[in-house]
Amino acid sequence: MTENGLLELMPGVLATRVDDAVGWARKYSLFPYPFVTACCGMEYMSTSCSHYDLDRFGAAFPRFSPRQADLLMVVGTISHKIAPVLRRIYDQMASPKWVVAFGVCTCTGGFYDNYATVQGIDTIVPVDLYIPGCPPRPEAVLQGLMMLQAKIQSQGLEGR
Ligand code: SF4
Repeated sequence: MTENGLLELMPGVLATRVDDAVGWARKYSLFPYPFVTACCGMEYMSTSCSHYDLDRFGAAFPRFSPRQADLLMVVGTISHKIAPVLRRIYDQMASPKWVVAFGVCTCTGGFYDNYATVQGIDTIVPVDLYIPGCPPRPEAVLQGLMMLQAKIQSQGLEGR
């Protein structure tokens, strides 16, 4: 390859490197907002504690202001009454942001197939990762988090 050919390639190479670096930085600096409504919260707390150590993945420090968070962890049964609040919290988060449906209740409504329960939070907010289980085991949560990190890395600068 000639020197000119190499110079022509440089912008593309640099853009790829910046994309990789941003994706890498984002995936290891997640600030979760735990939107906890029901029993899955116990398993969420267990996953966050030292035995499973979410800190290893750069996602240990929960934020209780949506404006400071980029990972909405929806944990527990979502009723139609609380659904507008969930949507509002999502809207208040700055982009890029990601959403995890934690537990089968958030994924599909679970066994609460009734008039009061939202049958899957993806009818209210876009979901990036579904973690089924009633409740999901911490190992499943960690595996899910690693899958989400891979997705964030692949998004690079784009984000959501
Ligand atoms: S998935 Fe099971 S443990 Fe989690 S909130 Fe629903 S009923 Fe409770």
